[in-house]
Amino acid sequence: GNRFDHYDAVMRVGIMGGTFDPIHHGHLVAASEVADRFGLDQVVFVPTGEPWQKSDVSVSPAEDRYLMTVIATASNPRFTVSRVDIDRGGPTYTVDTLRDLRRTYGSDAEMFFITGADALSKILSWKDADDLFSLAHFVGVTRPGFDLSAEHLPTNTVSLIQVPAMAISSTDCRRRVEAGKPVWYLVPDGVVQYINKRGLYRKVGNN
Ligand code: ATP
Ligand code: MG
Repeated sequence: GNRFDHYDAVMRVGIMGGTFDPIHHGHLVAASEVADRFGLDQVVFVPTGEPWQKSDVSVSPAEDRYLMTVIATASNPRFTVSRVDIDRGGPTYTVDTLRDLRRTYGSDAEMFFITGADALSKILSWKDADDLFSLAHFVGVTRPGFDLSAEHLPTNTVSLIQVPAMAISSTDCRRRVEAGKPVWYLVPDGVVQYINKRGLYRKVGNN
């Protein structure tokens, strides 16, 4: 059976934060690998809130990013999506995400914040960096094009793991759609269809 009996075990929750504009197979593989390696019961995908008006016009509406994340994760029984960052509004700070999810899952839950090599190196510049490490364990995953290192980060709360290399970024997916190039197999089929249905990432507003 499972390593953890649900009635007496501490819940182990992975948290995958991102803009998810759009969600792609790099995000999904990272979450799946960390779930396997750390015996997670669940991975919660948390799309970021809408940036303050006009601060970054290039980010798609939160509801589109939320729905693409739901579509991409729906078939995995261990994957869920949280609206905490979207509903809080404004720019997202990871410390707020972790505090809200700590309230949701309770003080006993073990939380694992999953982050790619590019984001990991910036942690110390995040809001309330000192509190971050008391709220969750941090798992840095490899990402092509970035060095994975936890230099200057507390070694007892940060783990580094290797995941299958997916040279995919949301930025590249958006540029491909804009240029009329395919994103099939970079993002889940349902996400390709949603992008087309909503006409996302096209310079001219109509599909
Ligand atoms: P953008 O190009 O818009 O920044 P992105 O592809 O970097 O998009 P984000 O939503 O910014 O995606 O990333 C969310 C999290 O997923 C970050 O921690 C990021 O490092 C990680 N991540 C994104 N793509 C990959 C990938 N291909 N492999 C491993 N981790 C990834
Ligand atoms: Mg990014």
